Amino acid sequence: MKQLEFVKPKEKNTFEKIANHEQVVFCNDPATGLQAIIAIHDTTLGPALGGTRMYPYKSVDDALEDVLRLSEGMTYKCAASGLDFGGGKAVIIGDPEKDKSPALFRSFGQFVDSLNGRFYTGTDMGTTTDDFVEAFKETNFINGIPEVYGGSGDSSISTACGVIHALEATNEYLFNNNDLGNRTYAIQGLGKVGYKVAEQLLEAGAKLYITDLNQDVMTQLNTKAKDTNGEVEQVDSEAIYSTDADIFIPCAMGAIINDQTIGQLKVKAIVGSANNQLQSPAHAKMLQEKGILYAPDYIVNAGGLIQVADELYGPNTKRVLVKTKAIYRSLLDIYVQAELDAITTVEAANRKVRSVLEEQRNRNNFYSRKRRPKWNIRE
Ligand code: NAD
Repeated sequence: MKQLEFVKPKEKNTFEKIANHEQVVFCNDPATGLQAIIAIHDTTLGPALGGTRMYPYKSVDDALEDVLRLSEGMTYKCAASGLDFGGGKAVIIGDPEKDKSPALFRSFGQFVDSLNGRFYTGTDMGTTTDDFVEAFKETNFINGIPEVYGGSGDSSISTACGVIHALEATNEYLFNNNDLGNRTYAIQGLGKVGYKVAEQLLEAGAKLYITDLNQDVMTQLNTKAKDTNGEVEQVDSEAIYSTDADIFIPCAMGAIINDQTIGQLKVKAIVGSANNQLQSPAHAKMLQEKGILYAPDYIVNAGGLIQVADELYGPNTKRVLVKTKAIYRSLLDIYVQAELDAITTVEAANRKVRSVLEEQRNRNNFYSRKRRPKWNIRE
């Protein structure tokens, strides 16, 4: 019998890995210990915008893989939210508990500055506004800085506000009435975003099923509910998937929509702030087949991004609130388009992104690059 030959898959070289990206910058400063990668995925819509994550990656390859994936995601988020920004992200290789220093972030700020406005950044997992106050000493291309430095402050307020608009749009689509009260919601995670969403739903008179790893925040919300027409029922972390609520609101971790949980869900829709809620793209189809409406996470949770993007034109809370309201219309359009084309809501959202990028590419081809807006917006 003929022996089957084992064919080793061809290892991708670095240029093959970054083929979808415009520019990838490796930053190395032995004096401060900085090792970082900045990835600019696509600047069709404007300068790249995206946070900087600090994580003890096991290898440079792991860090590269993460930054490439995250920066591509930012192109989608910016385009879907109608922002004149492209997708970018940075990762710093290191343990946020042990490896931080002001000098390291100043050095990182200098690398960001060297890109001359092609990349704007701020906090993400593992980095704080204090870190970026240091980076801001070296470059203007920082956002999400504290109000005392001219920034716009806590962006989880805008994120929560966007989730509320997304819930109103979902109620409108499902029940022909966008009223938030008289409905039931299951909220997973009462952190910076989830707690604010819960408060507003209680004010509207809704019934909430809640779960969090932290008992104190649940007790706090229970007390709060007594001053409202709303109602709270605490459930354990597994039971949150099988409540008979109208809408499930994931505001904790990603990948919680998977083969195990979809079987348990009884809700009519999923609308939450958590990033990357679907464990795989196939789960969007499974939800559709089960008749559960899924609000794509990058549309629902864009409020904070809308705020930090807007900050570059000078802080203005009113303008941010108006811009965040666009999530309502945008999500309704996606629901309707998905229904008309018999596709998942994720595919409808992705198609919208592709058409926004295509339109801008045509405009960019028409006018010379010289006539495009200046990228140093703060000047
Ligand atoms: P957070 O860390 O303040 O809150 C998360 C909460 O979830 C915490 O209270 C935690 O105890 C709880 N939690 C963790 N694991 C849990 C579990 N298994 N079951 C129940 N509760 C659990 O985070 P956040 O800023 O509120 O963000 C929530 C989600 O929204 C995250 O996925 C984040 O990436 C995403 N998001 C946040 C923003 C923002 O502006 N903060 C913007 C976009 C997306």
